[in-house]
Amino acid sequence: MNLRSLALVLASLAAALPLMLPSCRTTQTGRTVLAIISEDEANQMGSDAFRQMLAEPDTARRILKSGPAFQQVDRITRRMVEVARKDEPTFQWEWVVIDDPQTVNAFCLPGGKIAVYTGIIPVAKSDDELAAVIGHEIAHATNHHGQKRVSQAMLQGLVGEGVGAFAGFNPDEQEMLAGALGMAASTFDSYSRDDETESDIVGLRYLIEAGYDPNGAVRFWQSMVELSGPSESDWMSSHPANERRVGNLKKAIEIYRTSGAEAWKFEHYN
Ligand SMILES: [Zn+2]
Repeated sequence: MNLRSLALVLASLAAALPLMLPSCRTTQTGRTVLAIISEDEANQMGSDAFRQMLAEPDTARRILKSGPAFQQVDRITRRMVEVARKDEPTFQWEWVVIDDPQTVNAFCLPGGKIAVYTGIIPVAKSDDELAAVIGHEIAHATNHHGQKRVSQAMLQGLVGEGVGAFAGFNPDEQEMLAGALGMAASTFDSYSRDDETESDIVGLRYLIEAGYDPNGAVRFWQSMVELSGPSESDWMSSHPANERRVGNLKKAIEIYRTSGAEAWKFEHYN
């Protein structure tokens, strides 16, 4: 792409940014997050990715339909989804248990597509603890963190291109881009950590409403703090266990006891 056509593309994208700005949504704990792609688009991406994953021969042959691991994950997930369904009645909820003892992982894609790998079962030592993990993953989907991440990635793509080509713009265009870049830069900071905190808090509500012991979440993360060492899995490294996390969960349990889940505002946590 030559500089002139790049400039034209960037100028039109920059002009479109103010239109993208109002595309925000509010999450369950009161955060305002970016939503450039629609919820339907995000859910479709989640569904496509899930189908693709299940069609991979190596995964397909590991999908469990019976046995103790399947029964444990299935009964917990069923209870957690029953609760989360009230928040997202239009999600086409689905879950699979994948027999892979080496993989410590669980996720819930946009639209409610859940996968739990058997490697996470011994890490979570009880139903309460495993329900805490599943509730946390479900809360990523019901708070639309995937939709937000794709939206951010789209903006970051813009920003990356924009920086190098800045000199090719006239002053008006530069000002427009600077505004766009400034808006973008302030949007990115610490989102991932905030997503984690929010999923911990909302996941805790699902845990309580499904009738599990909320202290299961505290126990799980506390044991992860003690366990965290060089042999961390991808899931463990994207879910850092630390005292801040455990402290936030304890605080949320206390707020729930005194005031209920409606009092769970994001600013209460650090
Ligand atoms: Zn998470």
